Amino acid sequence: MDRGDWLQRVGQIRPWTRGAERAPHKPLLLIYALGRLQRHGSSAVSFTEAEPVLAELLEEFGPNRATTPAYPFHHLQSDGLWVVTTPDGISAGSAVRKLRAGAVGAFDADFEAALRGDPGLAALVARTVLDHEFPESLHADICTLAGLDVEGLEVSAARSRVGELVTRRRDPLFRERVLVAYEYRCAMCGFDGALGRDAVGLDAAHVRWWAFEGPDTVDNALCLCALHDKLLDRGAMGVAADRTVTVSRRFVARADVGQTLVLDLAGRPLGHPQSGEPALHDGHIEWHAQEVFHGPARAVS
Ligand SMILES: [Zn+2]
Repeated sequence: MDRGDWLQRVGQIRPWTRGAERAPHKPLLLIYALGRLQRHGSSAVSFTEAEPVLAELLEEFGPNRATTPAYPFHHLQSDGLWVVTTPDGISAGSAVRKLRAGAVGAFDADFEAALRGDPGLAALVARTVLDHEFPESLHADICTLAGLDVEGLEVSAARSRVGELVTRRRDPLFRERVLVAYEYRCAMCGFDGALGRDAVGLDAAHVRWWAFEGPDTVDNALCLCALHDKLLDRGAMGVAADRTVTVSRRFVARADVGQTLVLDLAGRPLGHPQSGEPALHDGHIEWHAQEVFHGPARAVS
């Protein structure tokens, strides 16, 4: 297997998701294991040691559904990248109790040898997984929590290879179209900063993530300031079916500025795109509410 073969195998991990439902379990385990390999020189880890970190990763970056780290720990094996061994040699399956009784997971020996011999491959694997599964605004937070330093691994010359794997192309005009549609104003708070003639601190946010078939269209986008872009992607804020802003009950801000910039916005109508531009599509709003938003939403006072 050469580098391309391994990347292809990593790129094909997705099918554990059912339709548009997010199941980032395997990708998060991969990122975590890459971090172990980087820090300890080996990806091998007991389930009991990995469990709390994976649980936190799933809690923070997974959809708002009850789940267990046991699923990826067991099921990643079927992708030919991961092997679990138990003290008695009998498969523990995804039974938490059995996994806790001494099960150890590690990258497949050939995969680990390839990663060790080629630091650029590890960086490409990480980028491939992150690009396939999460919006860019979350990549750094995920790597920090998982203990992976991608930049440290990265070989800049190798990065272009990632592009070869991505068959769907992003629309380069998407950002500009969305910013024009929303007249360069954050749809949540109205922020409209510019540096000279250029909008600054504003971006086009996908409501349904690009990695989950979210199209590069105005009816799947909001023009948001950097803060609200991040909070939308993290599921701290969302959009209700009536196109008002929702704020998660898990989100807390104690200072006045957090009150003004976030809590006070709960229940407020989103900014509209200018006339002639489509409003947000119901299906995309629903997807975000289901797959990203950390419900329940705060009551609107
Ligand atoms: Zn804003």
